Amino acid sequence: MNETSGKLNIVGIGPGNDEHITPAALAAIKEADYVIGYTTYINLVKHHLGGKQVTRTGMTEEITRAQTAVDTARSGKTVTLISSGDAGVYGMAGLVFEVLRKIGWKRGDSPEIKMVPGITADSSCASLVGAPLVHDAARISLSDLLTPWSVIENRIESAAKGDFVINLYNPASGRRQRQIVEAARIIKKYRPGSTPVALVKSAYRRQETVQFSDLDHFLEFEIGMNTTVIIGSSQSFVYEGFFVTPRGYGNKYSLEDGSVKPGQTRAISLRVEGDLASRPLENGPIPSLNITKIQGAFIRTNTSTFEQDDIEETKADSSVKNALSALEFLEPIRTKSNPAREIDTEEEFSLIGRIGGAIVFKNVNSFYLIGKFKQPTDLKEFGFYDIPEQENKLVTLIAKDEEIVDKLKFDALISLPNSTTPEFIYDLFVIYRNSSVSERLWNYVLDNSNKIQWKGTEYVDARWLGNSPKQVWSVFRETILKC
Ligand code: SAH
Repeated sequence: MNETSGKLNIVGIGPGNDEHITPAALAAIKEADYVIGYTTYINLVKHHLGGKQVTRTGMTEEITRAQTAVDTARSGKTVTLISSGDAGVYGMAGLVFEVLRKIGWKRGDSPEIKMVPGITADSSCASLVGAPLVHDAARISLSDLLTPWSVIENRIESAAKGDFVINLYNPASGRRQRQIVEAARIIKKYRPGSTPVALVKSAYRRQETVQFSDLDHFLEFEIGMNTTVIIGSSQSFVYEGFFVTPRGYGNKYSLEDGSVKPGQTRAISLRVEGDLASRPLENGPIPSLNITKIQGAFIRTNTSTFEQDDIEETKADSSVKNALSALEFLEPIRTKSNPAREIDTEEEFSLIGRIGGAIVFKNVNSFYLIGKFKQPTDLKEFGFYDIPEQENKLVTLIAKDEEIVDKLKFDALISLPNSTTPEFIYDLFVIYRNSSVSERLWNYVLDNSNKIQWKGTEYVDARWLGNSPKQVWSVFRETILKC
């Protein structure tokens, strides 16, 4: 290496807080003259960047970023290129090597290349839900920007068939919503709907959220660019709020006292019918391999206890059973109100109706739009100012023409002890993943509620919704969404 030899550190900063960045990664950032990374990642470590030249780039500028990093390092500088998690896992490392190969770089040339590992998203996300990755797992990115969907599809299918725990990276973005739905459909061919699924968003960052669900329901939750979806194998279970995939010790050893189960041999391949250990040798003796024997691979201790959960029972805890009891619970509340008679009450009602597949909600004198339009809708036709972009799932509507607004038709009326909020309505009806209103829930409520006359107009009386405990409704809601 000559005098002007530079150095390029390719560094993973982990999930995104100081506690989970390695000292080696920090040292690589410290020694750099020049730090390059995607804006979000630079922001996560910006307090370590004093006095350095920093280049932040957008998501789609990866190639320029890698080229700049290589060129600058080649000219003699120390450059640190950062990725979240591990730079070698869907990170910048691959692209850097492609650039190096293109320019004919050889070992010993400038720049020196150093890889610094980081905690990957699957590890950090797994740590927030338990131990889902204790057995074989596959990582699959659902981004079809650089990989054809047919390839991704085939990998999902193979991983599902192979009973791998599946970590879905890049599961969805604002524009990319279909891939995750398709992935769920494929995996469901091989696994029961009760298979545990964890959704971890922005692990170890300020916006961190962790959501437990199962294969049948996880699509109802918000899934975006910063989410990793962990889908259990057929062996995974939830125990005391922890998502666990067992290693299989229970197949071989008694979990009570560590003794070997009948037919098994300590530290020798698990014997089951048709496995490798039980097959006769076809072509003579196995060539002798030079393997160092590890003694005492299974060390018995009596300091830890493991009470084996009744896995079957956990799995049998089906949402159908829950929903039935929820229904039983809701029934008396629902029928309390009197059918189709004029009501005259002090109670303050809020009104709900539909516009373009979304919900329009009137509370006192404010109007809100809840959920996304299902078809292009001109709000002016209903007397409101148009909203610029329907990014938000919940917006306040501003009346443009009071006369038209007054003519709005509402289907149902609802009330709560302390007046209903738009957030509450959102929670009742909206599918979290794509912010659209569930037709099924809406129809269920309209079909199963009593009718009442209020101020001369007939409405559906949906007050029972406001009175049913949130947990009960959410169990019920999930079941309806599942149908
Ligand atoms: N190099 C990174 C992966 C980058 S790909 C790593 O090793 O972890 C980007 C995807 O990683 C995101 O779409 C998301 O699925 C996942 N991801 C990255 N950071 C995450 C975090 N803090 N929490 C949850 N998922 C994360």
